[in-house]
Amino acid sequence: MGSRDFSLRPPLPKSIIPTRALSISFCTPSFAAMVNVADLHTLQEFDLAVDTRKLRLADIEAHLTETEELLSARAAFQEVEEKLRELSASQKELEWDTGEIRTKAAAIEKKLYGGTVRQPKELEDLQKDLEALRRQAGAEENKLLEIMLEVDATQKLRDKGKANLGATEEEWTREQAELLKEKAAINTELAELQPRRAAQASEIEGPALSLYEILRTRRQGKAIARVERGMCQGCRITLPMSLVQKARSGLEVVQCVSCERILFMN
Ligand SMILES: [Zn+2]
Repeated sequence: MGSRDFSLRPPLPKSIIPTRALSISFCTPSFAAMVNVADLHTLQEFDLAVDTRKLRLADIEAHLTETEELLSARAAFQEVEEKLRELSASQKELEWDTGEIRTKAAAIEKKLYGGTVRQPKELEDLQKDLEALRRQAGAEENKLLEIMLEVDATQKLRDKGKANLGATEEEWTREQAELLKEKAAINTELAELQPRRAAQASEIEGPALSLYEILRTRRQGKAIARVERGMCQGCRITLPMSLVQKARSGLEVVQCVSCERILFMN
């Protein structure tokens, strides 16, 4: 967490300024003796461990779905398959048409050379029909050849797309299995952490716990800040020496004058 971010935020409402509102009871010697800041710090360690795992769980949940890569590999494969279906249908149609023309031409040829037609005009007409049909068949066969080449190229694309989809699905399945495994492991850890957290919280006096919870909400999960070299590690401000000395005992709640976190020293 950035060290100076809080300086940019509006001041906290008076109601949560702890020196007046929330730490009244900490001034009494009997209560001060009951507060162990190290216990609060341990509680925060549990809370942070739980927070991290919950964040990761949410991230995992968001990824337990088909990826863009998988969706696009599947779409590309489906598209090429559809094209291949259309081309194959056109090919069949052309084959059928060419067959029809060839059959008609064969019938005319049979008539032309069968000896049954003798009229020159009729023979001439038949010859013309035959030539026209042959030209038509030739044109259809050219189209057919083009389509067959296209079918061939599309089949190759389809095979490539199928292999790509297969590999993408395999990778996705492997990743999903890993995510599910990690999810199960995190849930096991949480099931262990949460009762320990609750037990730790039950060790802490109510007012101190309430203050901790409020500060945790206000300070992005970190209610306790270490003091190092006289500085609050929550906001990096140099603390007044008197405050550092008070915090050193660890037996009363001392808050940072700037970020209001509870100060903790080893
Ligand atoms: Zn601070």
